[in-house]
Amino acid sequence: MSITTVVKEALDNGFQVEPKALDLIRSLQEKDVNVNRIIQDIIDKKSGKSSVKTITERDIDAALPSSIKESVISSTKKTRHIESKVEIIINTNDSTALLEGKDGFKSLFKSRYNKLLNIVSLRPSRKRLDKISSVVKGRKEGSRHIAGLVMNKKIQRNSVVLTLDDDTGILEVLAMDKKVIEDIKQVLLDSLVVVDIQFSKRGVPILRSIELPDVPERTPNVSSKQVYTIFTSDLHVGSRNFLSEEFECFIHWLKDRKKDVEIVDKIKYLIIAGDAIDGIGVYPGQENDLEVLDVEEQYIALSQLLEQIPGSIEIFIIPGNHDPVRQALPQPSIPRKYAKDLYNMSNVTMLGNPAYIRLHDVNILIYHGRSLDDVMATTPGFTFTRPAVAMKLLLRTRHLGPVYGKRNSVIPDLEDNLVIDEVPDIFHGGHIHTLDSENYRGTLILNSGSWQSQTPFQAKMGVVPTPGIIPIVDLSNHEVITKDFRQMSLNDI
Ligand code: FE
Ligand code: ZN
Repeated sequence: MSITTVVKEALDNGFQVEPKALDLIRSLQEKDVNVNRIIQDIIDKKSGKSSVKTITERDIDAALPSSIKESVISSTKKTRHIESKVEIIINTNDSTALLEGKDGFKSLFKSRYNKLLNIVSLRPSRKRLDKISSVVKGRKEGSRHIAGLVMNKKIQRNSVVLTLDDDTGILEVLAMDKKVIEDIKQVLLDSLVVVDIQFSKRGVPILRSIELPDVPERTPNVSSKQVYTIFTSDLHVGSRNFLSEEFECFIHWLKDRKKDVEIVDKIKYLIIAGDAIDGIGVYPGQENDLEVLDVEEQYIALSQLLEQIPGSIEIFIIPGNHDPVRQALPQPSIPRKYAKDLYNMSNVTMLGNPAYIRLHDVNILIYHGRSLDDVMATTPGFTFTRPAVAMKLLLRTRHLGPVYGKRNSVIPDLEDNLVIDEVPDIFHGGHIHTLDSENYRGTLILNSGSWQSQTPFQAKMGVVPTPGIIPIVDLSNHEVITKDFRQMSLNDI
């Protein structure tokens, strides 16, 4: 029986057929379902009862036997039709020319100072800022405000000596106040601070208060449509500890659309914030922890997984410290020669680390998070269980990796591209393998966990990861939903 016959039948009975219902009738007919009987049932049921004589998609859905519903509806409903709205704002592939050695770092720090000075100077409440040279010359009484990079923190029993540097000189200031000393603990080396100092009678500059560049309280941008984005990272495909079963469950959850359909159908983007593969030679003895011993093979395995994800979902991938790309920040995107299959996927966009993108008007800063190691190591009270707290400090510092010469490395560059110029609406990080989130002055801070169970190295370090859970964010209100794929089997999906 053709579709026109079915519709004629309905019209003859005084019924209209909604366009979406027509689509469904068409696809049911393609699957050899006897639609005529179903329509007849609906007409019988609705005749006389209701004054609205329309056959809707929901009517058909309700009239279908559950056996048909499961096998047909889930694969035929055309509800994935969210149009994409993507802008790539900053992709660090466009990094400026590298400078050699010392000169390069000089210009990098100069750029850092100038950019951050600009940020703190623009604050409406900002008092006049003095340069170090003029303050040192005068040594006058009264309070002075200086913006400088923190070169050193000498923590003593009841005091701290802070060494500050600006483009005119260096100044050591002394902090004795308990509250100020507490504040200094949350100051990262090589970051910019604004200090209020007063010279003592003996001419010693005393620190009265210290401020980070910070972000203003703001209302974040939201999408006018309800669109969901999945934030994830640290798959570590190729590692023996990669949770392939859990990841398969995740893929089936996305493509089978049997569970949480109301969420799944609104998922338009998937962001992977680095360490998508485990890499090789990342640490001594890694070969013992690997299942796939070749980087290209690891990317092939990754693309075989990602290819199963519906093509309507757009995927963004940045590198991490396990990817075969320059380790010093900012990192360019993963080279094409290692990951040809990913580059060939039309729904995959490869970006550098960090990357700044806008999805449906929502600004998203994606950063793998290597420098979080240094933040954790140098800030008292910070732990691997709360990476979002460490990310908050980076946001307040307005820099993704200020600490120089420790675990994280940076390239000598003309411009410091790690300064957070534009405050993001969502700040996405990984690397710590622990799911965590925090709202700070309008910014949603997310650390997206991982897909790798605890490695022997993590066990030694006392790091307990939370793999197999994904945070999903509704871009229309920034609400976070988490979906846990641990201890799930494909039957549960
Ligand atoms: Fe990782
Ligand atoms: Zn990492």
